[in-house]
Formats: sequence, C-alpha cells, structure tokens
Amino acid sequence: KVRVRFAPSPTGPLHMGGVRTALYNYLFAKKHGGDFILRIEDTDQTRYVPGAEDYIVEALKWSGIAPDEGQGFGGSFGPYRQSERKDLYYQYAQQLVDSGNAYYAFDTAEELEEMRERLKKAKVAAPQYNAVTRGSMKNSVSLSAEEVEKRLENGDPYVIRLKVPRNEEIRFFDEIRGWVVVHSSNLDDKVLFKSDGMPTYHLANIVDDHLMKITHVIRGEEWLPSAPTHILLYKFLEWEAPKMAHLPLILKPDGNGKLSKRDGDRLGFPVFPIDWIDPISGEKSSGYREKGYYPEAFVNMLAFLGWNPGTEQEIFSLAELVDAFSIERVGKSGSKFDPEKTKWFNQQWLRKQSDDNLVTALKPILEKENLDIPSYEFLKGYVSLMKERAQFPTDLLEGKYLLTEPQEYDAKTIKKKWKENTPELMGKLAEVLRGVEDFSAENIETAFKKFLEDQNVGMGAVLPNFRVLVTGMGMGPSMFQISELLGKDPVLKRIEEGIT
Ligand code: GLU
Repeated sequence: KVRVRFAPSPTGPLHMGGVRTALYNYLFAKKHGGDFILRIEDTDQTRYVPGAEDYIVEALKWSGIAPDEGQGFGGSFGPYRQSERKDLYYQYAQQLVDSGNAYYAFDTAEELEEMRERLKKAKVAAPQYNAVTRGSMKNSVSLSAEEVEKRLENGDPYVIRLKVPRNEEIRFFDEIRGWVVVHSSNLDDKVLFKSDGMPTYHLANIVDDHLMKITHVIRGEEWLPSAPTHILLYKFLEWEAPKMAHLPLILKPDGNGKLSKRDGDRLGFPVFPIDWIDPISGEKSSGYREKGYYPEAFVNMLAFLGWNPGTEQEIFSLAELVDAFSIERVGKSGSKFDPEKTKWFNQQWLRKQSDDNLVTALKPILEKENLDIPSYEFLKGYVSLMKERAQFPTDLLEGKYLLTEPQEYDAKTIKKKWKENTPELMGKLAEVLRGVEDFSAENIETAFKKFLEDQNVGMGAVLPNFRVLVTGMGMGPSMFQISELLGKDPVLKRIEEGIT
C-alpha cells in the first residue's frame, strides 16, 4: 500500500512551497488509494518555534489536504513527533557503529576549527569531514573500542558520524530526475546522533520512514543533496529504500532565484497559506486565506507550479487533481510563481460559488462599510450581477451603488454624453418605464429599444446617461438587470431626481 509523508520541521510558518510538497504527497496518496501522513521533525530543538506545528495543521486543513494519519490526526505508527520518539533512534546509531558503518567522534570545537583552517590553507574548495580527512583527527574514527568505552563512561561529549565509504559511486533513481549518481568523495561524514540524546535529521528521517512503512519520499529539491547519505543509511541498515522524487523549485515571479519566505508582503502577494504572527516580534505575514482566496483556488494554483495535466484544462477541483495527477508529469525545472495568474484562479473559483455562498461572504463586508443590509433576495440579485467582475469577495463592494442613491455622477460620462436635450429625453424614458407592467429585465429592454426607435436616437445617447442617473457610474453590469433588481419606483425616482 502506498504510504507517503509530509515531514516539516516546526521552525516557522509553512510557506506555499511547503504546502505544494504536501499537496503532491496528498494527490499521489489519493491517486493510489494510499495514506498521507504528517510527521513533525523537531529534533533540532534550537530551531523550534512555538505555534509552528499548530500552524502547519491548520494550513493543511484549510487547504483541504488534511492527512489521514499523523501528528494531530491519529494512527497506529505514532508517536508522529520525533521529539517523542527520541529513545528509538540510538539503537540504530549503535547498530551502524557495530557494523562498522558509523563511529564515535569526540572532536572538540577547536579541533574541528583547526581542521577547517588546515584544509583552507591547502586550498580545498569545500572543506569536509570525510573519508580522506577523518584519518587526521585523533579523537575519532581511529579510536579503539576500549578507548571509546572509556570516554563515554567519562561523560565526554560525542557525536556519532556516518562512515562514508571511500571511492564509491552512490546511485539512486529519482522518479522525476532519473538516475542520480554521486561519488562518495563528495559526501561528508554526516553527524547522525549527538550526545544530547537527539538524532540528527538524517538518522531520524530514515528510521521513521522505515518504521512508518513509507513507500515514496516526495519532497523539495533542496533535499536532493541529502539523498545519497540516506541511500547509504538504508544500505547499511539493510532496509529497502523508499522510492524518491525531488520536486522542482518555485521561483520568484521574475525567475530570479527561489521564492523565499521574505518575498511575500514585500512584493505584494502572500507566500503563506494563512496569516502568521511571529511569536517573538509580533510581526504579521499575510496569508492567502485572509486575503480572500478560496482554498480551491490556492490549491489549484499550487498544483500547476511544477505539474501540468498535458491538456488545456486549467481549473481543477481537488478531486479532479487526484484523478489527473501523476509524478511523470512533474517537471524537472523550476516554475515561476505568477501572482496575477493566482488572482485569475481565484476569479474562476469565485464564479463557481453559489449565490448563497457569495451573499454569506458579502454581508460582513457590507456591514464593515456601515451600509444598510437589504433583503436576502436583493443580495442574491446583487451578487449574481457583480460576480463576473470580482476576483475577491471584497471586490463585490464595487456594487454598493445598488444600495444607495447616487451621491455624485461619473464625471467622464457627464462630460461626454450629457447634452442639452438629455434631461428631456430621460424624462420621456422615465414615462416609458413607468408603463412597463411587469418590471423584468426582458420587458425593460424591449421597452427601452422601442423608445430608442420612437425617439430615433441611438443606444449611445441614452444608455450611458440612463446608467449614470440610476447608479452614478460610467460602467457596470446590464442596466436592464440592474433596473429589475432595484425595482420600478427606485429607478424612476433616481432618474427624476437626477434631471430636476
Ligand atoms: N524535515 C525536513 C523538512 O523540513 C523533511 C525533508 C524530507 O521530507 O525528508 O522539510
């Protein structure tokens, strides 16, 4: 059975790249009838940020991609927080030591610094603690078992390091990139375990993926350099490695580098799913939810940052994404984030909302503006007229002229269209409209067109003035529909007040 995990570290708010990783995991799991698991990787206690874990859970729920299992969601492979699994990891580090694939190292900070200096002097480009350099360290790999025992008893601080083999090619198949081959001389002897009793990311990640029966690791490209280390660990622990897929980067709108957490409000769009208040500085970073995005639009947009369906279709519900998704259609190269396109996605999803939903969204917006709230029926008519032009529920406010008589008239229309005979013509139009029995958009339109014929005037001489008298605006939805919504008496009143 397919089992995938999303394994964030609670070091701050999840940004949209993180949600995309979660989304692709979710889609892959659902597509294959598998499980999507949330694991919290909090072994680095120095980077722990309070509130981050709750934020992650809430963000996933809002996005509609809640895990089947994991921290906050239950399941039989728990605990799902690594700090609560702490006692589990040491035995595997020890197993690696026993099999000769890891070793204790007692190097002091000074010794490590000295080594770096030495390598720098020797003009080594990337100084590493590896198969070549570890031999020069007198307090590590070459210590006898007895010596190690003595030091541990003594309480000396230590780390356990992976013993990367010398001169070996490490290869693995990435589901997106194909074969990846790395020479072991490019890998350092990563720390697996520290004397504070905590494993590092590498060890904990591998142990948990194994114990939680993870079948596919789908994560961001920034983890690709760690993959060879992980492959070695699987081999040394004699476990089958899960399949791996490293997702392409999300780039800044100008294509210049990776989209970062700091790009958000600075460039005028959110990079976080929901608002985040920094627990220390109190500073707010804005989220898609609070900006009025629909979760469906957010997820739809994210899906396309790295994947495409191979067809022209762009609007996908989550269920449709599950259907269409495949790792094969995830690209290798980074995709540019497009804030305008993101708004477009929201517009498409706003149009798909029922009028009832839109009324529910509109009401508090009107209340905030201190506007009188008309009847529910009126509001339904309001949103159905205004929704074509809106990208966000707050854009519906543009139609507030439907709620009050015009306070002023669009200057451009008056300047270009208002002629000497206009008041007289509008007066006549009002009389014609008064005669329309059933004041429906259709009947109003018929009467209006007949009026143009009878008066022998064009649409352009009458319609803009009609609009400006009734709404104060130079543009907007169909005047016939607006008139029907307002009703006969208010329309006549607005015309008459405007021409006298
Ligand atoms: N804890 C890592 C992170 O913060 C997990 C990487 C992985 O998926 O292996 O993204």
